[in-house]
Amino acid sequence: MSDLLNNYTRLSRLQFVLSTIGDIFSKTVKFAAIVKQYVYHEPPTEAEKPNDDVAIFSAETRTLRFLHSEMFISEKDRFREFHDYTVMCGQPMATVLLSPQDVCRICHKQLSLDPNPHPIVIYSLNKGTYLGCRLTKFCRKCKLHQHYGYSTQGNEKSYAQDVLDLHFMLSSEDTAFDIELLKDCSNLLVIGATPFSTYASSYNRRFGYNKTERNEQNGTTVKRMKR
Ligand SMILES: [Zn+2]
Repeated sequence: MSDLLNNYTRLSRLQFVLSTIGDIFSKTVKFAAIVKQYVYHEPPTEAEKPNDDVAIFSAETRTLRFLHSEMFISEKDRFREFHDYTVMCGQPMATVLLSPQDVCRICHKQLSLDPNPHPIVIYSLNKGTYLGCRLTKFCRKCKLHQHYGYSTQGNEKSYAQDVLDLHFMLSSEDTAFDIELLKDCSNLLVIGATPFSTYASSYNRRFGYNKTERNEQNGTTVKRMKR
């Protein structure tokens, strides 16, 4: 097993497979042979016949998963765990929004980082709604504040050219939208002529934020409104 434990590259590949599809592969020789080749960077071979190496690899995988189950939780569960922990610490940082811009757009000198984060609510396409934070850079000379996706100088606000290539859009000082969520929403609004309120209800229901959904889960009978 030291072949796996002492090699971080192999371990990270195995960790990815286990947290993505679980250990089902270790119960099937054909799957186990392919995963072993992937983990050990071996070239793909023709249909693998049962052999001792694969059987040992499967047994090691199951032992590793049993002894170090913490290592193999899914990315989704890991994200939720990290998010809740940072919130409990009083500093949400599951997502940190910081402009990639390093120099002032006016004088081209290096921007300084304001070390005080500002908590924000993030609306994500796949992760639902959660808390993150944003950081600001600034140029003291030009009195310019560089935010994620835009900059301000006095009352003037300028969006960065690549604002739509970023992962999120700051919609207010306290909220940010996943760009993919905006695209998804706009597609449905335009093509499906779906009202925004319907899209919002669908989003809330999907992530269990809908009151009716919660009541249904708790076994409470809810009288539905007539359409
Ligand atoms: Zn400047």
